[in-house]
Amino acid sequence: MNYWERRQRELNEQAEKEEEKLKKRLSSYFDAEYARLDRDIAAYYQKYGMDNVIQYRQLLLSLSDDDRQLLIEQIDEFVKKYPQYGGLVPVRESIYRLNRLEGLQYSVRMQQLKIGAVEISELQDHLSRLAARNANVVAETMGFGKNFYSVDSALVQTVVNAKWCNGRDFSERIWGNAEKLAQYLSTDLAQGFARGDSYERLTRQIRQRFGKVSRNDAYRLIYTEGTFVMNEARAASFEQDTEEYIFRVQYDAIRRNGWRDICDDLDGQIFRWDERIAGANFPPMHPWCHCTATPYVSDWGAWTDQYIQRHGGDQAEAEKIAKRLHSESRQGIILPRYQEAVIPQEKFTGYALNPERDIHKARAFQEALGYTQENVEDLIRQIREKLPEYEAKEKPDKGWGKRYEVRMDITGPNGKTAKVLTAWIDDKNNGEIRLTSVYVDRE
Ligand SMILES: [Zn+2]
Repeated sequence: MNYWERRQRELNEQAEKEEEKLKKRLSSYFDAEYARLDRDIAAYYQKYGMDNVIQYRQLLLSLSDDDRQLLIEQIDEFVKKYPQYGGLVPVRESIYRLNRLEGLQYSVRMQQLKIGAVEISELQDHLSRLAARNANVVAETMGFGKNFYSVDSALVQTVVNAKWCNGRDFSERIWGNAEKLAQYLSTDLAQGFARGDSYERLTRQIRQRFGKVSRNDAYRLIYTEGTFVMNEARAASFEQDTEEYIFRVQYDAIRRNGWRDICDDLDGQIFRWDERIAGANFPPMHPWCHCTATPYVSDWGAWTDQYIQRHGGDQAEAEKIAKRLHSESRQGIILPRYQEAVIPQEKFTGYALNPERDIHKARAFQEALGYTQENVEDLIRQIREKLPEYEAKEKPDKGWGKRYEVRMDITGPNGKTAKVLTAWIDDKNNGEIRLTSVYVDRE
């Protein structure tokens, strides 16, 4: 896992935590709204029923002036609170032609629209934060500082309000779900009344529908839109400096939801950012998908040159960014100026591999890896090559300059692999980064 992949995992984990919180919040909101619907239905039974049953033809009588007034107030309240969605509420004139059943159905639809509006505003906030954070971590990784994009920046808002998957954005999908559920509930009501269902029986079915469908729709949306927004925000940032990405499966999510095949086939495949299409070659591929797209560059040398051309800066900085994106670093904190690191051969022949100086160290190198004073060049070559791939841990400065430790896997001429600890100093006196000590780390 390289630096970028580690950051990406952190971003995903943080998103999942926030998704859980949002789900809980919406869930209790759904409960409260269901209780309200239940009260409305109970009122109908009380008003128009006898012995806990309503005569269907009673419901086909026209809405009383009072009930009509209540409905109009409900509409006014909605439009006042959500003027931007006023267009969703049909013209008021039709209210005068409604019968009692239609009045209740209309009220159910209004309620679903209101729930939709609340969902949209919650999700808008959640997704905007998600997009900004993901774009910013990419910017930081690419060397542009920590707070490059604000929540209301053009990039973030474009990502959040993007039309994708059947050409719709997330709010249109919420309206779609709200209308669909309102339709189901209206049918449940009409059929239940026509059958002469008791209040008990009718509300049992409606509660089931309301609780299950609305929650499931909302959760799926939170999860899938989140995947889209995170990947799209990263893509929009990465595509400014890289051209391709590699599709990576998130196995946990797939196992959990039994969608293995579709994303598995794409795992490891490379696509161009400018040809990405969510659902075709870019995550999310399907509802509940949590896969990722990670930048891919075939020639990092050429990329480094181009980066400097575009943004200026020095070679070392550009190379550091390149390493963050592709090297197999555990933690990604790379030894500063690793390219210039001085590795004195004397430290090996005179100390680490010299049985007369330190019998334990020398024996450890020979036994664990097969290194002696005779083949020291190969050990030095490996250390130099692997240096940028491993975390450099900073150690206290004892007055001579910053010190670092880098533990790395070395494979010796005997074919075995062992952990080797290297110690370094960023020497204040002569300005060089130099290896000060090396030994086989047996923990
Ligand atoms: Zn997937």
